[in-house]
Amino acid sequence: MYFDKERFKEEFIQKLQSMQGMSLEEASVNDQYLALGATIRDYISRKWIQTKRQYQEKNDKQIYYFSMEFLLGKLLDMNLINMGIREECRAALQELGIDLSLLIEAEPDAGLGNGGLGRLAACLLDSMAAMHLPGHGCGIRYKYGLFEQKIVDHHQVELPDNWLKDGYVWEYRRPEKSVEVRFWGRVTQIVQPDKWLFIHEDYEPVLAVPYDIPMVGYHNNTVNTLRLWSAEPAQLDFDLSSFNRGDYIRAVEYRHSVERISKILYPDDTHYEGRLLRLKQQYFFVSAGLQSILSDYKRKNRLWQGLPDKISVHINDTHPALAIPELMRLLMDEEGLGWDEAWTITTSTVSYTNHTTLPEALERWPVDMVKSLLPRIYMIICEIHERLCYTIWEQTKNWDLLREISIIADGEIHMARLAVTGSYSVNGVAQLHTDILRKNIFAGFHSWQPYKFNNKTNGITHRRWLIKSNPLLAKLITDTIDGSWIKYPWDLIQLLRYTDDEEVQQRFCEIKRRNKEALAKFIKNKYQIAVSTDSIFDVHVKRIHAYKRQILNVLHIMHLYNQLKENPDWDIVPRTFIFGGKAAPGYYIAKQTIKLINVLAEIINHDNSIQGKLKVVFLENYSVSLAELVVPAADVSEQISTASKEASGTGNMKFMMNGAVTIGTMDGANIDIKNAVGDSDIVIFGLTAQQVFDYYAFGGYNAWDIYHNDSRIKRVLDELINGFFPNEKEEFRPLYNDLLPNNDEYFVLKDFSGYSEAQRIVDNKFRNKQGWCSMALANIAHSGIFSSDRMASEYSVGIWKIKPHIITG
Ligand SMILES: *Cc1c(COP(=O)(O)O)cnc(C)c1O
Repeated sequence: MYFDKERFKEEFIQKLQSMQGMSLEEASVNDQYLALGATIRDYISRKWIQTKRQYQEKNDKQIYYFSMEFLLGKLLDMNLINMGIREECRAALQELGIDLSLLIEAEPDAGLGNGGLGRLAACLLDSMAAMHLPGHGCGIRYKYGLFEQKIVDHHQVELPDNWLKDGYVWEYRRPEKSVEVRFWGRVTQIVQPDKWLFIHEDYEPVLAVPYDIPMVGYHNNTVNTLRLWSAEPAQLDFDLSSFNRGDYIRAVEYRHSVERISKILYPDDTHYEGRLLRLKQQYFFVSAGLQSILSDYKRKNRLWQGLPDKISVHINDTHPALAIPELMRLLMDEEGLGWDEAWTITTSTVSYTNHTTLPEALERWPVDMVKSLLPRIYMIICEIHERLCYTIWEQTKNWDLLREISIIADGEIHMARLAVTGSYSVNGVAQLHTDILRKNIFAGFHSWQPYKFNNKTNGITHRRWLIKSNPLLAKLITDTIDGSWIKYPWDLIQLLRYTDDEEVQQRFCEIKRRNKEALAKFIKNKYQIAVSTDSIFDVHVKRIHAYKRQILNVLHIMHLYNQLKENPDWDIVPRTFIFGGKAAPGYYIAKQTIKLINVLAEIINHDNSIQGKLKVVFLENYSVSLAELVVPAADVSEQISTASKEASGTGNMKFMMNGAVTIGTMDGANIDIKNAVGDSDIVIFGLTAQQVFDYYAFGGYNAWDIYHNDSRIKRVLDELINGFFPNEKEEFRPLYNDLLPNNDEYFVLKDFSGYSEAQRIVDNKFRNKQGWCSMALANIAHSGIFSSDRMASEYSVGIWKIKPHIITG
């Protein structure tokens, strides 16, 4: 973009005056941030308007990515990079005596997601805009995003994330595009000569108000739209009889019940609870999103049959699966289509990504809840269910298959089965995960409609996770292989020629050291813990969950500590173990794990007898912004989930792209990473998914056997409950119980010795500086295929059938 420095400075000062009523001298950093955001927003909105106009004129296919979560992080710096004006802006602000990096810091993280699933949605939007793809997001504008985590007395404490308190510069409220969403009430059928009519009465209306956020493409003219819906009371001029005319208290209660819908993001990751409010959230944004898409379609097109050629609706996990019956409802009840026609259109429009096979994460809604909250939707789900059962029975006469695919069973609605039935494409997010979908949880559907199933391995945007977060490394890469990798990330493979180049190695080491220094400084300032940049930075950051096995890492640290206590001269490479991650507020074992890490950290960090060979740090409030600080500083990436449990992982990709070496299990995308880098540039250990399945099937593993046969394991487990943690004698018994009396569901003890051996290999490899550097560089070289640009293009070609649309300036 052409950038006029003097004009920019004027516009910036003008914004300070008009928006904050401030002169430059009076303005706080936050005021300056808001004014800069507003200035940049104007530049963006010119391109945004052009993009919308050109999509409209050409009328080509658009895709809408429906997701309950968008974990965007900060946008200012990314927008400046994408617009190609960051350094110009920095220089201009400097002339005004302003440090751009402070303004960038002042932005609140948009934390409208729990973890990987929400971040994936954000990376995909970034890639679609960069690749000229007409793709947009649809979600909920939560007033409170994921809670802020504080550690108090070693415990996790949750604070509300009031991210909107100073206003949000990137959003545009569009009240004129509001739509109504209806809950409760009853449906009556009216028989007409040629069809049935369904009348929904006595419902509670909710106004869905969209807020649009521009998604800026990298060095192009594309600006796509993320539309987030906020719930507001509908004008109370509707039939007041159901509210007792003039009943003020009821009116206030109504307002509250409506505003609750978009008030808060549920903090549970890969865990489902059948809460009414959550179901309301799901229907709320799905209905609002579809209504706005269809009314837009109607303005440009005449025949509903053409919908699948103009619109793709993609559902990110089953959270938006009500899009299927809702699209049926809109086509039939509002637009007058018959069932068969509407079903053909729906099942050619909706596609579905599965994100987990964990049973506790699979959504099942009680029939009674759906029936009363969404009476018409319930009728449609019943019809889908009955027609599915009928078809399967007619074709196969197979009772077992029928039971396996039944959408309604035992008083519950199985959302994954609804999603598969109503979608033309079902994909997993890494090779192993897609195999498991085909062979296990959707085996029945797969035997019946194998063509629906496909794999789309996850990706991450290299613009945020390399160019923005690790500018020094980005520069080294460009200096070495030129800058084509920025547009074509798979060109990173050219780095392979330099993995043994001494100068490149030296520069890489120096950059890694500087990134480690930045993190060390942050740790020192925040926690008064001194960590050496000569130590291995061994990083384990992600949601805290039993299947991700932070506990395996912790037990191994306890084991290392025990050995060092016995032999203080033991020659190990000093290690800094860095943890971070939030536990769902109601997830007791995960919170105990956080406490254990913090208690252990205090003991180890204060024990001078081990000569600083071990340090343990727990970083509070893991978020996108914290990830951007930690990932570039990592030497080792911990990806140690129980095989078969992690659908893909994306943290693993961020680390590899920043030159960390993975220590991991054969799970999720770790396998794809191993296939890319080869066996010698990754450290793999542990049970395979097949072995895990076999153990579950035949009950062949007894945790006590390992406890009795491995003295290292016996010792660390005993330490959980024998007073080794002096003030916490009974505190960690629940962790102990899960590992022993409850027989170690996640194979922590079974994998301990493999993990310990893998860590010894890491220690050994790190001693050879050149060897290590060459491994790190090989990881970067092979990380291009894990860019979400590759992912976006695979979805576009393989699922959505959309083409790039170049926006002209
Ligand atoms: C990438 C990312 C995740 C996902 O990490 P995994 O290791 O794949 O679970 C979670 N949270 C944040 C903030 C992230 O940036």
